[in-house]
Amino acid sequence: MMNRPAELGEFGFAGDDRVVPFQVEGLDVRGRAVQIGPLLNTILARHDYPEPVARLLAEAIVLTVLIGTSLKFEGKFTVQTKSDGPVDLLVADFASPENVRAYARFDEGRLAEAVAAGRTSPEQLLGAGVLALTIDQGNFMQPYQGIVPLDGASLEDIAGVYFRQSEQIPTRVRLGAAEFFDRDEEGRPRRTWRAGGLIAQFLPEAPERMRHSDLHGGDGDNGDRPHSEDDAWAEARMLVDTVDADELTDPQIGVERLLFRLFHERGVRVYEPHAVHDRCSCSREKIKGVLSSFSQEEIDASQTDGAITVTCEFCSTTYRYEAAEVLNA
Ligand SMILES: [Zn+2]
Repeated sequence: MMNRPAELGEFGFAGDDRVVPFQVEGLDVRGRAVQIGPLLNTILARHDYPEPVARLLAEAIVLTVLIGTSLKFEGKFTVQTKSDGPVDLLVADFASPENVRAYARFDEGRLAEAVAAGRTSPEQLLGAGVLALTIDQGNFMQPYQGIVPLDGASLEDIAGVYFRQSEQIPTRVRLGAAEFFDRDEEGRPRRTWRAGGLIAQFLPEAPERMRHSDLHGGDGDNGDRPHSEDDAWAEARMLVDTVDADELTDPQIGVERLLFRLFHERGVRVYEPHAVHDRCSCSREKIKGVLSSFSQEEIDASQTDGAITVTCEFCSTTYRYEAAEVLNA
């Protein structure tokens, strides 16, 4: 489906919630870019997250769709942070071929304190902890998990570290999210979110060129390797770094215009876009399956007036079961 590269614009403009794979032959770069709008607003509106939490989760969702849609697999790809800051958990997962869901957990009191003190950078909100990327291909395969420390950097920098250390692929990731204020059809004030991002990876045919690029400076660096970054990758990285956060989210620019601005001199081509949707994988049956593994004591402790209610953290759907129904499952 996505085998044939195309000139920019051949597929028209991808628009929101569609990941655009691209290739820059002149620089041996492959990547993906996306702008998300409706999908993001549905997820964020469902939870009504405060602005700083929404922004962080939006970036995590962009990262998840950029990587998730690049994997040739059947299963689930999850981006998760676990940390000691006011926002102690972000989870976004991508279920092949196209479903996305996400939620954040935060401490209201600590978040309000952080906001009042102006401590709202991603590193201040997340605190110390880890970013874990997990690929789970189902019952018959061992999940693969890569973990990198959240050592005081932005999500885009941490994602770059992940690829450098775990995948040994020189990678640059850019992520952005922005809140817009406008009015709905009836003239009422409305806030909406947009987010966007881009991942660029250096994948030359000769692997030794990869090893010389961008792999220095990581935790495993012994410091004595000479700095000899490949010229093509140095140029690609520099170009990607010129992207403003605004350009990642501006619907007037869109993914194709951004790619054109960055790479047209080097012959950028795009592939068919990959649509993503807000869709949760929970179901009444699945949750009942989890509850049926509870002991009689656990069921007794969870029930109120003979019923157990469970709310999905991702999509906020509430399921209600009779205690007897679960015990006899
Ligand atoms: Zn759900």
